[in-house]
Amino acid sequence: MQTRRNFLKTAALATFCLGTGFPSSHAISRYNVNTKTGAAPRMRLRFFPYELKLRHVFTVATYSRSTTPDVQVEIDYDGITGYGEAAMPPYLQKELGTVESITAFLRQVQGKIGDFSDPFQLEDILAYIDRLSEGNAAAKAAIDIALHDLVGKLLGAPWFRIWGLDKEKTPSTTYTIGIDTPDMVRRKTEECADRFNILKVKLGGGNDREMIETIRSVTTLPIAVDANQGWTDRRRALDEICWLKEQGIVMVEQPMPKERLDDIAWITQQSPLPIFADESVQRLKDIPGLKGAFTGINIKLMKCTGMREAWKMLTLARALDMKVMLGCMTETSCAISAAAQLSPAVDFADLDGSLLIANDRFWGMTVVDGKITLPDRPGIGVELL
Ligand SMILES: [Mg+2]
Repeated sequence: MQTRRNFLKTAALATFCLGTGFPSSHAISRYNVNTKTGAAPRMRLRFFPYELKLRHVFTVATYSRSTTPDVQVEIDYDGITGYGEAAMPPYLQKELGTVESITAFLRQVQGKIGDFSDPFQLEDILAYIDRLSEGNAAAKAAIDIALHDLVGKLLGAPWFRIWGLDKEKTPSTTYTIGIDTPDMVRRKTEECADRFNILKVKLGGGNDREMIETIRSVTTLPIAVDANQGWTDRRRALDEICWLKEQGIVMVEQPMPKERLDDIAWITQQSPLPIFADESVQRLKDIPGLKGAFTGINIKLMKCTGMREAWKMLTLARALDMKVMLGCMTETSCAISAAAQLSPAVDFADLDGSLLIANDRFWGMTVVDGKITLPDRPGIGVELL
């Protein structure tokens, strides 16, 4: 006979599993034995290139483009699929990889991942994958995201809950307006001003004040500025930042070239606005060297190899009393929803990447009245469209 305590335990679990839309047999099974066949399940990796089509031609200080190469990744285990993604804009090929290098790397992992019997051993699996080669950060991120999705689904819980975060504390996402003619900037601002609470503007293209004044002719919304290393003189950069402060700008990302840390530290010490590292930071090991040079760091899953290292970066930055923002590439709701799991813990979030594409594959994190809104679905919270 079932004891009252066991009954309550089973009932609570069933309710929990119903709430997450996840079959209860997985939540109560041992993860290394298939409940139907009794055989040990194996992880299987699948992937395919998927070119992202942009809604608008995207321009920053140094290039413009209308598509982004992307590779979609799926890890199957015991009847469950975890989804991941590698997005690699061409200007970041050196750090992130190309479709060719990503697929070659994934093929290598494909032959090995089945050797790991327990997907919960993320630390060992991801350290092994990281050691397979230098670079290929986006391929590593794709595997990391798919594994986190899988593990979250096996637990029946979304990652924000596993990490102990409050989904009510998600920030508003910035929405990016690329460098363009004043007419186009005005039109884009008019299109988005009602839907977002904070905008992001790419500067460093030679028409900075015109860009800001054009946007200000449409809206008083707070603005985050990304100079994308575009300023070269520190005195002029500081003057520009003081002017931006008067225009209601709330933060500045990467004012000068990534290696000029002394000049950036000089700016940060005197800046009335917080200064965030983007190009100057890629992974966990970069952070200690940036303390003092920047107020905060921008964490991007594609650059830092995924959710596991992102969480470590967030923890280390906080320990160093630095601010944290989350960024993204142009990517589907898969990688965006993975990053959004961390968003209750950050100061700024720039997670508009999936809003910029016309061929999303997933339904996941949504933007409601400008605010990042996390679904209660397990893992990274996505469903295929
Ligand atoms: Mg940036």
